[in-house]
Amino acid sequence: MLRDILKNLNGLCELSDDIRKSTIVNHMTRIYTLANQKGGVGKTTTAINLGAYLAQLDQQVLVVDLDPQANATSCLGVDKYAVQGSTYDALLYTDIPASSILYNERLRLSLLPSSPSLAGAEIELVEEEGREFRLKNALGSLDGKYDYILVDCPPSLGILTVNGLIAARDGILVPVQCEYLALEGLGQLTRTIERVQSSLFPDLRVRGVILTMFDSRTNLSTDVVQEVKKHFPGLVFQSIVPRSIRLAEAPSYGLPISAYSPSSVGARSYEMLAKELLKGDGIPIH
Ligand code: ATP
Ligand code: MG
Repeated sequence: MLRDILKNLNGLCELSDDIRKSTIVNHMTRIYTLANQKGGVGKTTTAINLGAYLAQLDQQVLVVDLDPQANATSCLGVDKYAVQGSTYDALLYTDIPASSILYNERLRLSLLPSSPSLAGAEIELVEEEGREFRLKNALGSLDGKYDYILVDCPPSLGILTVNGLIAARDGILVPVQCEYLALEGLGQLTRTIERVQSSLFPDLRVRGVILTMFDSRTNLSTDVVQEVKKHFPGLVFQSIVPRSIRLAEAPSYGLPISAYSPSSVGARSYEMLAKELLKGDGIPIH
């Protein structure tokens, strides 16, 4: 009730830090979805690297690959053609058998992989009842097993992303690339969020905006940071991810940056982001 009133008063983007913290319901598992329908802004890079650092900071983490491109799956060194159970099965059968979750012991990170069949899910779900709630319901069976679930969305606003938004119980993480036209399309995402709020999930909120591929040599990057902060007051993470060759290289080794090049600037930025997220969530860092 109070939350609704506040939301109406301030709008989605104007919740102060303290109010935002008080709106976090104390679930055992926090579920965040990485979404931005613009392609190549760093959704996948953020999902796996933030996930890897949260795991390094003693959190039980599951990355859910909700993209038929299966980039998160490949970036973690898994062959998408060889997976047994995938997000596709989770959506179709609203069940996630333990055998479909792949655990990387070295990284202490779990993955629900994507598979090429996920591309067909969009069409197959059209006729299904409650098709927007499939992922949310499937993830329900994992409640309490993880501290964090990070859902990596495709670059679109179709039924897969809508499933990702509705599953985002604790909010959406929006990566925004520090490039020309960075804000273009964010209006579209905001409208989709509002539509989902008004029809399917009133409590959907933006947990934070993550600035990616920042290039300190250009004025443009600095301008984008200011613009985004103006657009999403109080919601932009202070940890900014720089453009980094190491971050771009890591996926070809099937590794997150924490394992590929832990002392690089890109690695440090994702470690800081993980700590910032934990702090905002009220989780002590040991
Ligand atoms: P899609 O919309 O296709 O799913 P995405 O939003 O998930 O894309 P990524 O795949 O994470 O974006 O990143 C796009 C490309 O940019 C990738 O090749 C990735 O390696 C590279 N990249 C991501 N972040 C950085 C960075 N900070 N510095 C340099 N390269 C980066
Ligand atoms: Mg991606």
